[in-house]
Amino acid sequence: MDRLQDIVADIAAEMADVQDRGTVANYIPALANVSPKHFGMCIVGADGSVHKAGDAEMPFSIQSISKVFGLTIALGTVGDALWKRVGREPSGSAFNSIVQLETEHGIPRNPFINAGAIVISDILLGRYEPREALGEILRFVRELAGDHSIMIDEEVARGEAETGFRNQALAAYMRSFGNIHHAIELPLGLYFHQCALSMNCHQLALAGRYLMSDGKNPATGRSVVSPQRARRINALMITCGHYDGSGEFAYRVGLPGKSGVGGGILAVAPGLASIAVWSPGLNERGNSQLGAMALERLVQRTGWSVFEPVTPLLG
Ligand code: GLU
Repeated sequence: MDRLQDIVADIAAEMADVQDRGTVANYIPALANVSPKHFGMCIVGADGSVHKAGDAEMPFSIQSISKVFGLTIALGTVGDALWKRVGREPSGSAFNSIVQLETEHGIPRNPFINAGAIVISDILLGRYEPREALGEILRFVRELAGDHSIMIDEEVARGEAETGFRNQALAAYMRSFGNIHHAIELPLGLYFHQCALSMNCHQLALAGRYLMSDGKNPATGRSVVSPQRARRINALMITCGHYDGSGEFAYRVGLPGKSGVGGGILAVAPGLASIAVWSPGLNERGNSQLGAMALERLVQRTGWSVFEPVTPLLG
């Protein structure tokens, strides 16, 4: 076994012993039944190596991690015009908060809170029919991961449509400001379905590779986004990827990351690795309790951090 594989296996063994595993999200019916005992981790290195442990091959609901893929597609579709309708600042508020929208005229703080992602869905619907838009997201994620078996869990999507009253309120409120252009059922339907993407840590780490490698998919050599855009998506992930826990995640882990209420986290060590962790128990901010702990241990042992000194050009 190489060193990184040892580290991943050690972390998975340590996580198995942790008693306080957080609380599984229960407001989406299909998520409430997932056992908090699960833990999976997968690291895909820039050299193509794969290191995994625990439940790394067990599918889970990626939920808000899908916001990274939705944003990437929308930027590719409308470019920087997107930023007229969504901000780029951390919200410091809960993932589903409505309060800032009133004083900020229906413009969500960033694309990684629910309001922002619903606007992104609405933007995609300006270019694609609803089915096409969903097909585009699925095609994009499958191509990034190089895995055409990735599916959307219809039961999760349906459950969320039936219980997503807050998201409905967010969409209706933003429509009143003119920042949702379609009947709210349409962007909400797209948003719920993208959140219901079912993936495992291995697939997710593969899908995140373009963010570690200057916007290129290393498997195909094809450019997914420009190097500058990859850096900027990473910047948004580190500042906004964990809702009102983003500062804490940057402090403890020091890598761009995006969490979802299914308990997954996608983290990026630029130039080095794409990392996915999953453990369904959440902390009080809605981020995976063990996921963040595992990433913290990983960076302690590898020294990976975007704040690591780089070779100076000066002197
Ligand atoms: N689909 C979830 C919701 O809208 C996503 C939230 C999350 O993963 O943080 O509530």
